[in-house]
Amino acid sequence: MDDCIFCRIAGGEIPSAKVYEGKRAVAFLDAAPMSRGHLLVVPRAHWKDLAAVPGAGAGEEEKAAYAEVCDVVRAAARAAVEVFGGGANVLQCTGEEAGQTVGHLHFHVIPRPKGGKVPPEFVSGAYRYADDADRAATAAALRDAIAKAL
Ligand code: AMP
Ligand code: ZN
Repeated sequence: MDDCIFCRIAGGEIPSAKVYEGKRAVAFLDAAPMSRGHLLVVPRAHWKDLAAVPGAGAGEEEKAAYAEVCDVVRAAARAAVEVFGGGANVLQCTGEEAGQTVGHLHFHVIPRPKGGKVPPEFVSGAYRYADDADRAATAAALRDAIAKAL
């Protein structure tokens, strides 16, 4: 979709700090991170939210796209644990009432290093990178760890 920001990020029209680029899914750092390394996993195909993903009636391409997204979420959680220690939250918001602000399916993977607040808080923009180099180094570490975990 031309007016969808995540379609445009997936297509490379809008810059992002990508940590994974696959045939059917991409992952990139969230622009307003809740924690260091907070990333988003999105399908290249435009589904508006999780409720819009077809179930039993899905075609082979749709099944493959959803499977790739889920596998990258899994690998990103493992990468978060490996790179930062501690754990990770996976967050998916379906619908405005649930806090969804971008209408293209995405899963948040939010690293939670040891020593953080428990239970963790879900506050957009709670974390700030020191500078662009710090952000790029974080993306590089996650990119390598995701590639290893796939
Ligand atoms: P949600 O509230 O679940 O719809 O989350 C949307 C997320 O997209 C928020 O965490 C935003 O910070 C993030 N976001 C919006 N625009 C961009 C962008 N251009 N690049 C990276 N992340 C973005
Ligand atoms: Zn889209």
